[in-house]
Parts: sequence; C-alpha cells; structure tokens
Amino acid sequence: SNKPKIVVLGAGYAGMMTTKRLTQKLGPEEADIILVNKHNYHYQSTWLHEVAAGTIDVNKVRMLISDVIDTNRVRLVFDTVQEVKKDEQRVVLENGELEYDYLVFSLGFEKASFGIPGMEENALSIESVDKSRLISEHIEHQFARYSSGEETNDEALNIVVGGSGFTGIEFVGELAEKVPELCRKYDIDRSKVRIINVEAAPSILPGFDEELVAYARKSLEDRGVEFRIGTKIQECREDAFIVGEDNEEIKAGTIVWTGGVQGSSILDKSGFEVFKGKVNVNGDLRVPGYENIFILGDCSWVMDKENDRPYPPTAQLAIQEADTASDNLTALLRGGKLEDFVFDNKGTVASLGGSHAMGTVFSGYKLYGKTARAMKNVIDNRYLFILGGPKLVLKKGKLRPF
Ligand code: FAD
Ligand code: NAD
Repeated sequence: SNKPKIVVLGAGYAGMMTTKRLTQKLGPEEADIILVNKHNYHYQSTWLHEVAAGTIDVNKVRMLISDVIDTNRVRLVFDTVQEVKKDEQRVVLENGELEYDYLVFSLGFEKASFGIPGMEENALSIESVDKSRLISEHIEHQFARYSSGEETNDEALNIVVGGSGFTGIEFVGELAEKVPELCRKYDIDRSKVRIINVEAAPSILPGFDEELVAYARKSLEDRGVEFRIGTKIQECREDAFIVGEDNEEIKAGTIVWTGGVQGSSILDKSGFEVFKGKVNVNGDLRVPGYENIFILGDCSWVMDKENDRPYPPTAQLAIQEADTASDNLTALLRGGKLEDFVFDNKGTVASLGGSHAMGTVFSGYKLYGKTARAMKNVIDNRYLFILGGPKLVLKKGKLRPF
C-alpha cells in the first residue's frame, strides 16, 4: 500500500508497548505497522532471574504476541534482525528484508563482558528465555551428576555469580529459595552447596539506599548466600572465577555473569554511533541526524536534564518511552509537534526470593519484606493489565501472595 510504513524492531517492553499504543492512537488508514521479533512470543525480561533459578514456569514469563497485539492492525514478522541500512531505509533480516518510512529500534540488551578474559566463552548469562533456562537446567544437571556419583568433587555444586547489581542480587535471592529444594530432591546436604556472589565495588547494589542494601544483604546471608565484596573478577575459566589482586581462584560447577549489560550489538553493526553500548538520542527519542528513527529502552541513553546524566536502563523507563515514541510518531504522521520525554520515576523494588523483597516507592518511601514483595507483584501485574487487560493478568499475573 502507499500508506507510511512503521517498522518496530523487537517485542520487548519498549517494542510491545509502542506497537500497542500505535494501534490505539492511529486509524488503520494512517499507517502500516510491522512488528519484527526473533520469536513468536513476548517475554518479561524482569522475571528472567526466576527462569534462571528454576523458580518459575517458563510459560508464565512469556505470551504469544498474537494474543495481545491486534493482528488485523499489525503485521507480525518472526525473524532475526541482522542490520539496519539506515541510509536506504531498509532492515536486513535473517530470512528477508523490510523497507520502512519510520523505524523504532528496540532490540533490548545483551550481556557486557568488558573484555574480561574467558567471560564470553565460559560464563552463563541471564539474557533471554532460552539462555536463562539453560542456567536452571545446568544447575540441576550438576546436582544430578553429584548424587549419581558421576561427579565426586563438592565444588561442582557451587554456584558463583559475578556482579551484585539488581540482576545478581535478585538471582541469588531466587537461588537461596531453590537450592534447598534441589538438595531435598537429590538427597544432598545443604551445607555442601555454596552460593557465592562476587562484587568489585565496596558494597552490593552500589549506589542504592544504604539501609535497604544492609537489609538485603542480611536477608540473603541468613539464607546462605556468601558475598565477596570489593573483589574484582579478573578472569573466567571453565570451572572458576579468578578474583582480586592475588588472583584467588573460586571454583564452581555453575558460573553466571551478571556484571553488566549493553544495548543490542545490531546498533554497532548498523553503523550507529555507540557510546558505552548504547546510542545517545534526542529528547524526542530520535537519533541525531535521522529524523525517522527512534531508539528506545536498553538500546539508548536519554538525558535526565535534572541530574545531568542518562536515566538508568529499566523496564519502567522502556514502557514510559513507548508512550512518548508513539505520540511522536503520531505527530510526525499528522504534522503535529513532537514532545520531549520526561521520566516519572515510580521507584525501585527488588525481589530477594520467596516472600522477601525491598525497595523504594513514591520518591523515597522504603518498603521491606512481604509489603515490598506485594508491591513488586502490583507493579508486574499493572504492566500485564496495560498490555492485555484483566484476562492477561489472570493468565500470566502473580496472583498468589507468594
Ligand atoms: P528487552 O526486554 O530486552 O526486549 C528486546 C526484544 O527484542 C526481545 O523480545 C528479544 O527477543 C528481541 N530481539 C533481540 N535481538 C533481536 C534480533 N536481532 N532480532 C529480532 N528480535 C530481537 N527493570 C525494571 O524496571 N524493573 C525490574 O524489576 C527489572 N528486573 C530485571 C530483572 C532481570 C533479571 C533483568 C535481566 C533485567 C531487569 N530489569 C528490570 C531491566 C529490564 O528488564 C530492561 O531494562 C528491559 O527489559 C529493557 O526493555 P527493552 O524493551 O529495551 O528490551
Ligand atoms: P549493573 O550494571 O547494574 O550491575 C553490575 C554489577 O557488576 C555492578 O555492581 C558492578 O560493580 C559489578 N561488576 C562489574 N564488573 C565486575 C567485575 N569485573 N568484578 C566484579 N564485579 C563487577 O547490571 P544489572 O544488575 O544487570 O542491571 C542492569 C539494569 O537493569 C540496571 O539499570 C538495573 O537497575 C536494572 N534492573 C533493575 C531491577 C529492579 O528494579 N528490580 C532488577 C534487575 C535489573
């Protein structure tokens, strides 16, 4: 057709919400909307640490895209993006090509290994449904090998996690709940299994509220998590992290890297100017020099003018950016004025496994324990409600208290 073509790359938080909003804001005669994603499902990246620990059913964290996006309005293309030829307004896919008039680039995050020797090859990472599931399968396999006598070294049961940002902390929290269950299943003494979290900074969750950090640390230590703070990982071997000034070896059968993320490597391949793994976008979320390309979520840096630094990449941010991007696309099509993005920070709540959690809401109000856990569920269910209404909340929401 000769309608303008909007192509959205990636069905994560940013891509899904932008597509959803476009179908609500635009009439069918105004534009063709195409959503490209690697899989036919959308998954909740914020629950991947649960998949990695094996504390949630994989199908709870994902849903068919066609169940929540109106396929009468949106053409779904399930394929892998290889490159954007931005000067030709074309997207190269593994199995084809697409032309666009407007592009929304929202391919999300990948692990960042910062060139640490061996990290790419030897560490597992919490990046996608499949890579996260590999971690829980791997852990269980170590337990099965040990109990069968195939493996006799106790260190094979160790799980070492590199990095104590929110991902690392939420993951060891889930492990603290899962390990006792696996010990019962495989008849292994709990004291034989070590969960070790290594962090280079002098504290876990560097920069976060000190009281909440202390609370999280105690809660996790009480459930058997060991912390090695102020300890930099120098190298990752097949069976160990090499850490600290004296190159100490921490052996483990399971090695997971949660030390950092960056935007999709397709950015660099497509010739965008990448700064610390992401692209700096204008206030209206478009790429400088490319008036028809928006970059959202974990693929871009958006300046927080109040604090003079970019907003940290979160799902909360990606979802809010989708509103501005869909408004601005509508304005571009109708010849209106574009708006600048402003983040409305609703707080940060982290789960620590089971009924444990902590965080801040409403500009600084602190929450602990079950109250925090309940708030976390409210936040997650709210997203599902916006995306797919009460039906989706019932199907995929966290409804049981804990
Ligand atoms: P993503 O959610 O990463 O989605 C990208 C999509 O693009 C995926 O569907 C992927 O399959 C697809 N894709 C990627 N590459 C290609 C390709 N080449 N071709 C086709 N498709 C492709 N943030 C919070 O605000 N609150 C939290 O509680 C929270 N918890 C987190 C817990 C964990 C364990 C992790 C890892 C992150 C958490 N975050 C949280 C951060 C949050 O998940 C990210 O900021 C968010 O997912 C970014 O959204 P996005 O839309 O940019 O990308
Ligand atoms: P991060 O960058 O926030 O944390 C990585 C941690 O690894 C840092 O503490 C860093 O000091 C440490 N590290 C890096 N190199 C190291 C080394 N060589 N040795 C030892 N430690 C090292 O990454 P993340 O935790 O994956 O979080 C990514 C984004 O997702 C953040 O914006 C975060 O806020 C967000 N997130 C939010 C939640 C939540 O709100 N509940 C949960 C998960 C992630």
